Amino acid sequence: MSSILHIALPAPVYGLFDYLPPENTPEEKLAPGQRLLVPFGHSERCGLLVGLSDRASVAAHKLRAARAVLDERPLMSREHLAFLRWVADYYHHPPGEVLLSALPVRLRKGKPPLVPRPDRIRICDTDPEAFAALARRAPRQRQLLDWLREQGGSASMSELRRRFDNVHGVVRALCGKGMISLGMAGDAATPLQPPRFALEPEQAQAVAAVASRLGRYHAFLLDGVTGSGKTEVYLRLAQQVLEQGRSLLFLVPEISLTPQLINRLEKRLPGPIAVLHSGRSDGEREQAWQMARQGRARVVLGTRSAVLAPVPDLGLVLVDEEHDSAYKQQEGFRYSARDMALVRAQRANCPVVLGSATPSLESLKNAMDGRYGWLKLTRRAGKAQHPGMQLLDIRNQRLQGGLSPALLQALEAVLSEGRQAMVFLNRRGYAPVLTCYGCGWLSDCPRCDARQTMHRRQGRLICHHCGNERSLPRQCPSCGSPELHPLGQGTEQLEQVLQQHFPGHPLVRIDRDATSAKGRLDDLLAQARDGRASLLVGTQMLAKGHHFPGVALVALVDVDGGLFGADFRAAERMAQLIIQVAGRAGRGEYPGRVLMQTRFPDHPLLQTLVNEDYAAFAREALKERAQAELPPCSFQALIRASAVKAETAEDFLRQAAALVEKLAGGALQVWGPVPAPMRKRAGRYRSHLLLQADQRKRLQRILEDFVPVLSTLPDAGRVRWSVDVDPLDLY
Ligand code: ADP
Ligand code: ZN
Ligand code: ZN
Repeated sequence: MSSILHIALPAPVYGLFDYLPPENTPEEKLAPGQRLLVPFGHSERCGLLVGLSDRASVAAHKLRAARAVLDERPLMSREHLAFLRWVADYYHHPPGEVLLSALPVRLRKGKPPLVPRPDRIRICDTDPEAFAALARRAPRQRQLLDWLREQGGSASMSELRRRFDNVHGVVRALCGKGMISLGMAGDAATPLQPPRFALEPEQAQAVAAVASRLGRYHAFLLDGVTGSGKTEVYLRLAQQVLEQGRSLLFLVPEISLTPQLINRLEKRLPGPIAVLHSGRSDGEREQAWQMARQGRARVVLGTRSAVLAPVPDLGLVLVDEEHDSAYKQQEGFRYSARDMALVRAQRANCPVVLGSATPSLESLKNAMDGRYGWLKLTRRAGKAQHPGMQLLDIRNQRLQGGLSPALLQALEAVLSEGRQAMVFLNRRGYAPVLTCYGCGWLSDCPRCDARQTMHRRQGRLICHHCGNERSLPRQCPSCGSPELHPLGQGTEQLEQVLQQHFPGHPLVRIDRDATSAKGRLDDLLAQARDGRASLLVGTQMLAKGHHFPGVALVALVDVDGGLFGADFRAAERMAQLIIQVAGRAGRGEYPGRVLMQTRFPDHPLLQTLVNEDYAAFAREALKERAQAELPPCSFQALIRASAVKAETAEDFLRQAAALVEKLAGGALQVWGPVPAPMRKRAGRYRSHLLLQADQRKRLQRILEDFVPVLSTLPDAGRVRWSVDVDPLDLY
């Protein structure tokens, strides 16, 4: 007899909640993985049944009965529940929050599951005459078809809705004419296309190495330079896994990378694809989640949170651009999808492949130590060649909008040959700060230790950390002088300067401001890809994994900002960014060229990247980390606290430090409390306590005892605090 139900509820509590079964519900009707409606305080909540036993953690008379069982059959398998509980334990996060956050939003709220419905729209072969007629009679229909073609022939309904307003009438009309059809991703009737080329020897070796481990756990690092054909390796492996009747989990860091990838996968892999990312509507995500859970889609493609989705018969896990910090959730439940992908593969007994041109030092160390198989692709696939990199010393140069004469000349040369150039600057807005020449006033944010960025077109000063904004002042708020001037450059200014300099060359700017409108990003990326735009200006949004075949020159306007960061990972991030941006050059038939402006041309990081390569940089950086005993040569957890008064956060962390020192008895290094690098943010003062150990296990053992009692410390109720295991960002 086991009549106590252990239920996960979305509450900040380190444990499960105990209930009795709902009245008149026989025990056979209850199974872990079902949702139940339970009384909670004076209201009701939806929870997930995790286990049954005969033991309750509270006195019998305090137990209440659940109200109702919401699912006839479990939504999650026991294995999956166990995996999610493992994840919650590892990150020392309340299990209820972790388990419930793994459910789609509607299901989390206790709603009944949706019935599957077509969510993908694709173009059918149409008669050219009918198509031409549309241009005259139905411009909206024609526009939609043109857009679909740009997307590679198909798109999800949510992408479509993001791009067009009130689209349903148009879709109905086109369906009626047989010019488009609706379905699910990957269920197209069109025959699969065979690969267009033979694998390069290194690609073939990589495929063979992973294939030989199918059916067992093994981790691989696919360390392949940009454009070396990593995606092709993934595709061949995916084919083999599907042939064996097993499923594939494919993680990418960015939503904007998925449309192209879906099209590529659809052409090569049979069966539907479940696409899980935050750009889709709640309904679409839930349907994709159900398809994955029921094994109806054997390919599950998604961003970070997809690693928590149920995928039965998992046969392979792929993590593309594994170094990308987007895999780490930076607030709330702070997990790393890359790291959890490894755990997932281990529990499912299947291989996992981490791919990157600029692997994280974590993964490189694992490869060097022999824990991961190390697969190298050292050459670009096909005809493409690797670009040459060169530094431009801008000391004592007259810059125009941040651009040196040499850079402007190089741009001129490329544009006059009819090729594309990309100009990269990792700062959006017009200028990072506005200053007064009269009194030295700076556009400080009133709520942060940061400056408000000048956005000229919007006519506003905006803080990029807390969103606080005001209109652009005409006179100095401090002394009244009209001599207000922007300092430094952002992408908005670059756009202006380049347009003035190269009129007649179409330019697209790709950053968060320029792409906030409906469908804008897709549009701009399409113009960049097909060569309609000859100048591409942007932030790191441009750097991520895109394939622009016509780009012959990549210019990095300012690499100095990243050279002296306070964070010990600053150099690693900068090196990755430089190599990734540079990797956008020369991906087609022309050789590419990369120019970097700097005032520190002798800086060792730049010298190593220009004269050697990322691998050389990484070897050096790993040596330094080992000497300094920093990750990946040690293991960290960061306790963050913030409060309206600076002392409150520090008091709390002092109490926490005393507690952890007592628990650890010298087995951990405890640093702090110290003010966070950005001490004040959004009106709150922030402090850090850093814990570090030489072994992961040791750190985990102490966190296990430490974290659950943090909330009982005297000042715990007066601060916001959080625990970040394996923090990526110390700021
Ligand atoms: P990565 O993911 O490593 O940046 P991709 O897989 O996108 O590279 O490949 C870059 C380009 O090279 C793509 O256009 C792809 O079709 C092409 N490609 C990949 N493998 C080969 C090959 N073996 N022969 C010829 N072209 C290839
Ligand atoms: Zn002034
Ligand atoms: Zn601010």
